Amino acid sequence: MRRNYSCPHCHGVLNPNVKIILRADHESHRGLMLFSPQPGNYDCIIPDGFKLKKKSMVRFHCPLCGKDLTSRRDRTMAEIHFATGPGHEGIVVFSRVYGQHATYFITDEEVKSYGEHIDEEAVNFWGLGHGDVR
Ligand SMILES: [Zn+2]
Repeated sequence: MRRNYSCPHCHGVLNPNVKIILRADHESHRGLMLFSPQPGNYDCIIPDGFKLKKKSMVRFHCPLCGKDLTSRRDRTMAEIHFATGPGHEGIVVFSRVYGQHATYFITDEEVKSYGEHIDEEAVNFWGLGHGDVR
């Protein structure tokens, strides 16, 4: 099943091919990072020059419109839209902290969480459903 990921601001597709592409900023470095569209897969491609350590906070932007993807609800998280078909869409909330494996797929019906660093309280918090999060 193909998932389409898109920017919540300009609705541009963020995974035109096999990876999700986001602009990343950390300290004085800026580049494109590639992520797996597969939930729970944290393999990512980080541009040369980025010196990321555990707990480094990365700022993500849409590569198309340049808008900041930081979640307004939780500044340590970023969010983008996803859709797996008509009527099945929601938001993906993921940690901005390098090495922190926590991702939530949130739709009106359910929250699915991935990664060993997920926070049960955050699941409840995000369990509002994306209609309420807006
Ligand atoms: Zn955008």
